[in-house]
Amino acid sequence: MKRFLSILTSVLLLVTMVSAPAAAKNRKLKALIVSGQNNHNWPVSHKALQLILDNSGLFESDIVLTAKAGGDMSNFAPAFDEYDVVVLDYNGDSWPEKTNEAFLKYVQSGGGVVVYHAADNAFAGWEEFNKIIALGGWEGRTEKSGPYYYLVDGKPVLDNTPGPGGSHGSQREYPMHCRNAKHPIVKGLPDNWIHGRDEMYDRMRGPANIKDLLYSGFAIKSEGGSGREEPLVFTVDYGKARIFHIMLGHAGPSLEDNPAMQCAGFQTLMLRGAEWCATGKVKQALPKDFPTDKSTSFRMDYTPKK
Ligand code: ZN
Repeated sequence: MKRFLSILTSVLLLVTMVSAPAAAKNRKLKALIVSGQNNHNWPVSHKALQLILDNSGLFESDIVLTAKAGGDMSNFAPAFDEYDVVVLDYNGDSWPEKTNEAFLKYVQSGGGVVVYHAADNAFAGWEEFNKIIALGGWEGRTEKSGPYYYLVDGKPVLDNTPGPGGSHGSQREYPMHCRNAKHPIVKGLPDNWIHGRDEMYDRMRGPANIKDLLYSGFAIKSEGGSGREEPLVFTVDYGKARIFHIMLGHAGPSLEDNPAMQCAGFQTLMLRGAEWCATGKVKQALPKDFPTDKSTSFRMDYTPKK
């Protein structure tokens, strides 16, 4: 019996030794989606973001919602530092000062942040937040917020012309142009592809501390755009933090009718950007259903095609 117990103990020990590192390796990345107020359809967008992240099998996400606009925010205090990546889907009332401090502490100690669509409208008067997003729009932004940033002949121009920050033309399908084929978030993706029907943010302003511009798009004047090549997807230069800013993804009326977020290009960038924010690497395989320079591609059910 003693001998049997000894063998059993050895076997159990071996099983533990073999399975423990494997379990750690296969741990899902923890994402926190922050939502609850927005001039957009946040009840759709935050659910869509969760479906995109969780259906990939790479992430498990929690959602934290603030009080409604004008409500009591004093209990809004997410534990940012328990997450590998924080996804901002929030444009609304100020957070409590303690929550702002906790968010800055998380970001400045090397946290990962995805700035999604109208999250870059938020907190126009919070100087440090504007450095975290690099470019923002609306909510009273002007030349005091920083220059306009756009491309001429593929090179960045910082333009201090006075005027409001943030606008967009009519919603349409549009081509995306790669600006850094080597960055892990976009490596292997097409240089040009057609994004599903969406807004294209333009005339954005801010400290413009873009680290790597990944994709831009041309805001056609006849569609109400700026007539410039505009930055749409980029990383931000902010200390040790890994920040991925994606201006795409205007939410539709429902999860079923949500072309900008059902676009396989949007979903791929969201997943690759979020993985990079969480780990500094991108290990997920390139998808087979990515849009091409001739046609759009959609994942109606927010699930990558294997
Ligand atoms: Zn929008």
